[in-house]
Amino acid sequence: MLPKLLTSNFLNSLKAKLPKDTLREVTPKYLEEPRGILKGNNNSILALPKSTQEVSIIVKTCQEYKISITPYSGGTGLVGGQLNPSQTASVILSIERMVSIRNLYEEEKVVIVEAGIILEQLQNLLSKENLFFPLSLASEGSCRIGGNLATNAGGVQVLKYGSTRDLCLGIEAVLPNGQIFNGLKRLRKDNTGYDLKNLLVGSEGTLGIITAASLRLFPKPSHFCTAIVAVESPREALKLLNFAQKFLDNRVSSFELIGQKAAEFVAKCLPQIKVPIEGDSEWFVLIEATSSSSKNIELEFENFIKLVFEKELVQDGIIAQSNAQRKIFWSFRENIPEANRLVGSIVSADISLPLGELADFIDKISYEISLISDCQINCFGHVGDGNLHFNLFRNWDKTVSSYESIVPTLSSMLYGEVIKRNGSISAEHGIGRLKKSQLLASSDKAKIDTIKAIKKAIDPNGIFNPGVLIDV
Ligand SMILES: Cc1cc2nc3c(=O)[nH]c(=O)nc-3n(C[C@H](O)[C@H](O)[C@H](O)COP(=O)(O)OP(=O)(O)OC[C@H]3O[C@@H](n4cnc5c(N)ncnc54)[C@H](O)[C@@H]3O)c2cc1C
Repeated sequence: MLPKLLTSNFLNSLKAKLPKDTLREVTPKYLEEPRGILKGNNNSILALPKSTQEVSIIVKTCQEYKISITPYSGGTGLVGGQLNPSQTASVILSIERMVSIRNLYEEEKVVIVEAGIILEQLQNLLSKENLFFPLSLASEGSCRIGGNLATNAGGVQVLKYGSTRDLCLGIEAVLPNGQIFNGLKRLRKDNTGYDLKNLLVGSEGTLGIITAASLRLFPKPSHFCTAIVAVESPREALKLLNFAQKFLDNRVSSFELIGQKAAEFVAKCLPQIKVPIEGDSEWFVLIEATSSSSKNIELEFENFIKLVFEKELVQDGIIAQSNAQRKIFWSFRENIPEANRLVGSIVSADISLPLGELADFIDKISYEISLISDCQINCFGHVGDGNLHFNLFRNWDKTVSSYESIVPTLSSMLYGEVIKRNGSISAEHGIGRLKKSQLLASSDKAKIDTIKAIKKAIDPNGIFNPGVLIDV
C-alpha cells in the first residue's frame, strides 16, 4: 500500500536536495483532463525539475518513501493517465521546464530535444531551419514531446511518416530506481538486444520518466495539395485511398474520413469555425498530398481529382486554392474533437481495424446501435491508418446521464465488434485509466502476463503511475 499523505519528512528531504523553486502547490489544471471524466486528488505536490539529474533525485526520494509519481507533460491525454484520482499521495512530476534543444544535426536530420518542449514550438523552430517534424495533432499547441512519446501519439500524418514511435531514434529516461537511461542514439539501425527505447515509448509513465529524445526529421514540404471530397460511403473512401496511393504514391500524407455528423456538430457548437462542406452527402474525405521537391505537384493533384470524378469515386469536392483555404479545411477537421466535447459524448472509442474490415464494421455497428438506442454517432478519423474515432452522443433533446444504463451495453457491443474483427481498442490515445478493462478483454493472456512481469521487474514498488495501463 502506498501512503495517503505526504509526510513532512518526505517533503523536507525533497526540498533539501532540490533548487528552491522546484516544488510548488498543485494548481487546478494539473488535476483536470480534457474530457472532464476524471479528477486528480489533492494529496499531491507539484515538482518542476529543470534537469534530468533533478528528475533522478525526485525519483530516488520518492522511491525511498514509497511515494507515487504521476508524470505530466501537456495534460492533453484522453485516457486519464496524467492524473491520480486515487487516494494515494503523489508527486506530480511535470517536465514543462525542460524545453531546450540540445543538438540539431541538420545533415543527419536528427534533433535532440528535452521532453518538455511543446510540439508546436518544436515544429516552428525546425521550420525556420527548413526542417520538418511531422507529428501533428489537434492538441499540438499544448501537448509536449514527453507526453507524445509516452502515449506513442498518432495524428494526421501517420500515413506518410508513421507514429511517434517511428519518429523516435533514441530516448533518455529516468527509471524507477532513479537510474538514468542514456539512450539518445541517432541510429537508424541498432540491433543490440531488447529495445528499451521502444518499451518506454507508449509506456504511459509506468516504466520511466522520459526526459529527452532524439527525433527523426524530414525536409520541409514546399507543396501542399489539399481537397475535401464527398464520397458515397466509407467503402468508397477506401477505394479512393487505394487509388490515391497508386496515383500520388507516397505523397499522400493525410486521409481523414469525416461524417456529416461532424459538420453538424461543428456548425452547431462552434459557429466561429467555417464548415467547408456543402451538399447532403453523408461522408467526406479530407485528403492532402505534400512534396518537398521543387517539382510542382499541383497539376498532378488536379489530374488526380479530375480522374476520381470521372471514375465516380467522388461525387463532389473542392481543392484548396490558397494556403488560407487549406487552413480553413484543417481548422474544421481539428475542431471536431472540441465540438464533440461540447456536445458531450456517452462513449468515445479510438479504435483501429484492418482496412479490409473497416467499412463493414461501420455499417454493422451503426445499424446495431440504431436498433437499441437513439444516440447520435459521430464517426471520423485517420482512416488511411485504419483508425476511427467512433463516438456516441446524446440525442439533442436528452441528457448525457439519461444514457447511463445503456452505456455498458453500447460499449461492449462496440468493442466486442472491434475485437471480433482483430482490431485494436486503442489506436492512438493509449490505455491510461479509462481503457484498462478493454485492454484486458482484448489482449491474449501471454501479453498481459508479460506486461505485468515487466512492470514488476522495472518498478517493483509500483510507484510510477500506479493504476495506469495495468493493475499489478
Ligand atoms: C483536441 C485533442 C486532439 C487530440 N488528437 C490526438 C490525435 O490526433 N492523435 C493522438 O494520438 N492523440 C490525440 N490527442 C491526445 C493527446 O494529445 C496525446 O495523447 C498526447 O500525446 C498527450 O501528450 P501530453 O503532453 O498532453 O501528455 P499528458 O496528457 O501530460 O500525459 C499523457 C500520458 O503520458 C504520461 N507522461 C507525460 N509525460 C511523461 C514523461 N515525460 N515521461 C513518461 N510519461 C509521461 C502521463 O503520465 C500520461 O500517462 C488529442 C487530444 C486532444 C485534447
